[in-house]
Amino acid sequence: MKKILYCKPYITEIEHQFVADAIKHGWGESCYHYIEQFEELFKNHLSVNYAIATSSCTGALHMGLAALNIGPGDEVIIADTNWVASVAPICYLGATPILVDVDKDSWCINPEKIEKAITEKTKAIIAVHLYGNMCDLAALQGLSKKHNIPIIEDAAEAIGSSYQGKKAGSHGLFGVFSFHGSKTITTGEGGMFVTNEKSLYERVLTLSNHGRDNKTSKQFWAEKIGFKYKMSNIEAAIGCAQMKSIDTLIKRKQDIFEYYHSHLSTLPLSMNPKQKDVINGYWMPTIILEESLPFDREPLIKKLNEQHIDARVFFWPLSMLPPFENIHQTPVSYSLYPRGINLPSYYEMTMSDLDYVIETIVKFFETQ
Ligand SMILES: *Cc1c(COP(=O)(O)O)cnc(C)c1O
Repeated sequence: MKKILYCKPYITEIEHQFVADAIKHGWGESCYHYIEQFEELFKNHLSVNYAIATSSCTGALHMGLAALNIGPGDEVIIADTNWVASVAPICYLGATPILVDVDKDSWCINPEKIEKAITEKTKAIIAVHLYGNMCDLAALQGLSKKHNIPIIEDAAEAIGSSYQGKKAGSHGLFGVFSFHGSKTITTGEGGMFVTNEKSLYERVLTLSNHGRDNKTSKQFWAEKIGFKYKMSNIEAAIGCAQMKSIDTLIKRKQDIFEYYHSHLSTLPLSMNPKQKDVINGYWMPTIILEESLPFDREPLIKKLNEQHIDARVFFWPLSMLPPFENIHQTPVSYSLYPRGINLPSYYEMTMSDLDYVIETIVKFFETQ
């Protein structure tokens, strides 16, 4: 029986053509051709001034934090409910992640909890827009101004999401994106650093070039120790092709969410919230089972997997993972994860695939 995957890239003839062209011609003087074009297209999509394509979102975040001189003794505030990639760069730099609780409705960082966690060591707040849901950016910008601490957006899951008409990733001091195969658009592996600040862009550009200032004519001259997180021209060729489909891919995510929502909303569960001033790109349609139910997500995931449906678990609280200390201060994060499941959503899912997932969930509840 065919398996319904939880995500899958949409690869067309255009991706094939661009990659073939990059492999044939994208060398020597043309070796940055698709990279420059991809950065340009992505910048225009987001309406930001500067973009640097990277080999991953993790790398983009690592360089951005390094450019802010974050290091040992510094603290960076981030939500406990997250994928480990968002916190790892803080640890690479020897800084301390301060894990705070999420809001029960948005599943994103709770601004009131941030305020309590701010100390004189706080150097940044990382706003991760979880599963396409948006952080309360108005409250975060308020805190940022009041305490003079920058907001950084990890918008890897928020392609297609916007807040007050402005796209996710374009609100903070800088934003980062991922083009991993599971994301709304993909380059296989890949990421992007974006900002509107010229001096920050220039610092990250130098860091991304092994510490070489791109204005110097002196060859092989590293001013400082930098990084090697570049995207390849071949990956960027896939990215350029994906940009032709970006609006279609976002629309499909939104349609899939609405379809699930309209067929599951009578069950004892909630889904990604409808938030004020937010358009959600719905990277991951997610269900959270009601707390009063006598069972958690495990039997439902088992049922879905038995029916060849690739449902995934909602993120564990980071503080539960072995590298971190569980300080028992994030009750909402701990209440969400045992009840949360990501449902399959990808462009080529058929209506009958969707109906099959819905039917499996409905039947599960009927037999409990
Ligand atoms: C996928 C993801 C990342 C990691 O992206 P990579 O490109 O694999 O480094 C980081 N943050 C969030 C929120 C993600 O969803």
